[in-house]
Amino acid sequence: KTTTHEITAAVVRGKEQPFVIEQARLRGPQDDEVLVKVVATGLCHTDLIVRDQYYPVPLPAVLGHEGAGIVEAVGPNVRDLKVGDHVVLTYGACGHCNPCRGGHGAYCKDFFALNFGGDDGHGHTAITDAQGQPLHDHFFAQSSFATFAIAREINAIKVPDDAPLELLGPLGCGIQTGAGAVLNSLQVRSGSSFASYGAGAVGLSAVMAAKVAGATTIIAIDVVPSRLELALELGATHVVNSRESDVIEAVRAITGGGADFALESTGRPEVLSAGIEALGGLGMMGVVGAPKLGTTASFDVNNLLLGGRSIRGIVEGDSVPQVFIPQLVTLFLQGRFPFDKLVKFYPLEQINQAAEDSTKGITLKPILRIA
Ligand code: NAD
Ligand code: ZN
Repeated sequence: KTTTHEITAAVVRGKEQPFVIEQARLRGPQDDEVLVKVVATGLCHTDLIVRDQYYPVPLPAVLGHEGAGIVEAVGPNVRDLKVGDHVVLTYGACGHCNPCRGGHGAYCKDFFALNFGGDDGHGHTAITDAQGQPLHDHFFAQSSFATFAIAREINAIKVPDDAPLELLGPLGCGIQTGAGAVLNSLQVRSGSSFASYGAGAVGLSAVMAAKVAGATTIIAIDVVPSRLELALELGATHVVNSRESDVIEAVRAITGGGADFALESTGRPEVLSAGIEALGGLGMMGVVGAPKLGTTASFDVNNLLLGGRSIRGIVEGDSVPQVFIPQLVTLFLQGRFPFDKLVKFYPLEQINQAAEDSTKGITLKPILRIA
């Protein structure tokens, strides 16, 4: 039996219930796992839709999936990481199915079980509460709303010691999702037009990446004026407030017929439909916004067909995290990917305030400072 560690964790006890700060215990790392002392964790919209049970993660659970921290201990089969390494925690993937072998871990055949299953895949959790009852965990193979977390070596990404670790957690999900959708999935070209439906953390990461890619028309669409202002600062050449103007007309007018590339991150089917309508010939729409399971959206079949347009779903920006996260760190350190402008820090104890500020559009990317 391995030793256990006393931890403080934010626990969701029931659907739509606030996070509760509790004392709990975490077992030590086994096999290819690492124990990570969490320095800070981003709060992503996905944590909130799971709290509200859009996705059926069993409760009570410790969520959190944008952890950044320092390796505290390693399991017997860890090969590349060592105690003291700085790591960003990202999504879980098995590492040996065909999608994983092809460099597409975001489409791992066990993705749902490994990230949303609520245990280690064999019915065991690593965390127990103060009464000794198991708490569901392994959320995105980390459950990082806690002072310590367990991840596997495959989803703990080493980052340079001289990068500001407390800032880097969101690279593991929301930011790699927006940036990767643009750079890896859509492969936005230099000189092209790009429309970001949604200027939240994901959509603004996409805007910054479109600028890195050399897109010359970059449109941000949202309903929150402060987010549109920030979009202009981060590289958008145009903004559209969809409460004030007709989005389809506006995007067509700005691009002279329709966007070459677009990304939907609002999670609203009517916004997706509008975005498809406002694609130019051969235009590509990437879909990352997550509505409730079973949600459908509609589009004009002949508009899609005759224009050679396409729509594709994207998980985690199709990134190979070991490659992509260090690239984003380098772009950040060079001043070309200033995602720190999205961030506001909160202590872990204020997680419910952070969630509320995120929902209200006051804070773009909350990061909970833990150590
Ligand atoms: P967010 O809440 O910060 O961003 C959503 C934005 O959409 C907000 O700025 C909001 O004002 C805007 N919006 C809402 N209604 C709108 C409308 N009608 N028209 C225009 N804009 C509108 O959330 P986020 O953290 O950026 O995440 C975005 C989505 O991506 C969420 O659904 C999240 O669950 C999902 N997500 C998916 C992946 C993936 O791998 N596919 C990864 C991370 C997050
Ligand atoms: Zn996320």
